[in-house]
Amino acid sequence: MPPAPRYRRVLLKISGEALMGGRDYGIDPEMVNRVAEDVAQVHAMGTEICLVIGAGNIFRGISGAAQGIERATADYMGMLATVINALAMQSACEKAGLHTRVLSAIPMATVCEPYIRRRAVRHMEKGRVVIFAAGTGNPFFTTDTGAALRASEMDCDALLMGKQVDGVYDADPKKVDGARRYDRLSYMDVLSNDLRVMDHSAISLARENNIPILVFSIDAPGEFAEVVAGRGRYTIISEER
Ligand code: UDP
Repeated sequence: MPPAPRYRRVLLKISGEALMGGRDYGIDPEMVNRVAEDVAQVHAMGTEICLVIGAGNIFRGISGAAQGIERATADYMGMLATVINALAMQSACEKAGLHTRVLSAIPMATVCEPYIRRRAVRHMEKGRVVIFAAGTGNPFFTTDTGAALRASEMDCDALLMGKQVDGVYDADPKKVDGARRYDRLSYMDVLSNDLRVMDHSAISLARENNIPILVFSIDAPGEFAEVVAGRGRYTIISEER
């Protein structure tokens, strides 16, 4: 018997970098398959799931702009890169036995559905995993904000940030020895201490809609299910500390 879920519907945000596995660039199919297994595990618990995937493994608008591409254009390129990741994740999820739909904020009728809120909700009610592609569909935003936006629109009970560390620290634990890890934080703690979890607009949006943010390690196999079951190792960000 799978463990009882604490949440009815969750959004999982995975950065593009998490999909690189041990590589320097692009997609590591082994890693994508592993994440898909984790998603299938949570799906088997009866929780409805939607995903937002970044594109740092392929293209970031800021780096494009630094190379002389107009910022808005570079951001559109970044959004298109999220569609590539979403399709890779869709393929892996279907291999793991899930039914999925990719919904893109930038309509791309040949490869996926356009984003329509009510349709996304319906897909999840039918047990499909919904993968949101192209972030918010607007330049000057990030997929973190896209994740907070979709989690709000989908009325998710929690926004899970699958990171490469097991929670929020006051400094990068991979670089700073003795960095302090937090179990609980308020949205205001994150904003006022400028803790690098996600950008401020994403935190503010989650706060306005009272959606708890759970930060955990996607690198740890099975941890997604542990966190959804209310166990495992994570930092929770909510209104109270
Ligand atoms: N992006 C954007 N609007 C959005 C979401 C993403 O313009 O709503 C672009 C932006 O250029 C960003 C890139 O897509 O750098 C990839 O997303 P992000 O950096 O959030 O990916 P992650 O860091 O999660 O891998």
